[in-house]
Amino acid sequence: RADVALYAAKRSGRNRANQHEGEAGRGRELARAISSGELVVHFQPVVDLQAVGAVGMGRDAITAAEALVRWEHPTRGTVPPLQFILYAESRAIILDLGQHVLRAACAAAATWPVGPAGRRSVAVNVSARELCDRGYARRVAEALDEAGLPPTALVIEVTESSTETDDPQLTRSLHEVRELGAHVAVDDFGTGYSSLSRLASLPVDVLKIDRSFVQPLGSGPRSTTIVSAITGLGTALGLTVVAEGIETAAQADVLRGLGCARGQGYFFGRPVPADAFAASLHGPGAG
Ligand code: C2E
Ligand code: CA
Ligand code: CA
Ligand code: CA
Repeated sequence: RADVALYAAKRSGRNRANQHEGEAGRGRELARAISSGELVVHFQPVVDLQAVGAVGMGRDAITAAEALVRWEHPTRGTVPPLQFILYAESRAIILDLGQHVLRAACAAAATWPVGPAGRRSVAVNVSARELCDRGYARRVAEALDEAGLPPTALVIEVTESSTETDDPQLTRSLHEVRELGAHVAVDDFGTGYSSLSRLASLPVDVLKIDRSFVQPLGSGPRSTTIVSAITGLGTALGLTVVAEGIETAAQADVLRGLGCARGQGYFFGRPVPADAFAASLHGPGAG
């Protein structure tokens, strides 16, 4: 019995040590990835759903893009963000990662040709931990300045659930970002616990309907009713409503019929590297 207990204690101690080393290793590897340029930013188009009907799906319908980070790992290949963002968010390294993505996104957007509806904006995902840092808005101002991008062309996306913190700095940062002239989007809307009450108290300009509501569209009246209500609510509050995760023409048609302003999803375009996205903006205008 004592032997078993001793063995178990030794084993768990060893596991703890391994885990510790693994954690430190991951942090170091991520830090190295940022400084060596392995973290790249891809861009996915956001289209004017109403214009898509008239001008087709070409460059003229593209009003914005969302910046999505990927890790081009030397041995593991392309690592998707959900495999390292959560880890980064639990560490201060998310601040470096976020700043890296922000600078890359602003630099790319500054080169995009102006579309028929004006300058195309870029949306950057931001974690709660970044917003709770008092220097956040200042770093946004620096990134905009460095890229020469007008603040109105930047959207900060914050997930609904990440705003469920009592740190007042989070809301303060959002106000500061808006004072600069940039916009704030509430991401994954409808998936948090307190959607409606949060919406009333957050300083936001854009509402992104989570793809879990968009994907069932067309397969039953209830999904249409829910998306219709969210679109109506957002529009009535003066927000720009973006539907995420549109994969089919049928979903796009329903959303257009509901008066939803913007759409994003594989149907319009997958996330692609910066140069490929810029090239698509110089491509055919219609079709
Ligand atoms: P998100 O902000 O909700 O981004 C949308 C995700 O849906 C992206 O996944 C995108 O590739 C995917 N997507 C787009 N259209 C479709 C579609 O039609 N169908 C389906 N099934 N999926 C679609 P991705 O790039 O893997 O990113 C996952 C999440 O990682 C993002 O979700 C965001 O929360 C987070 N993330 C990405 N980049 C960053 C970043 O730079 N910073 C932070 N803090 N989070 C990031
Ligand atoms: Ca997002
Ligand atoms: Ca989302
Ligand atoms: Ca999400």
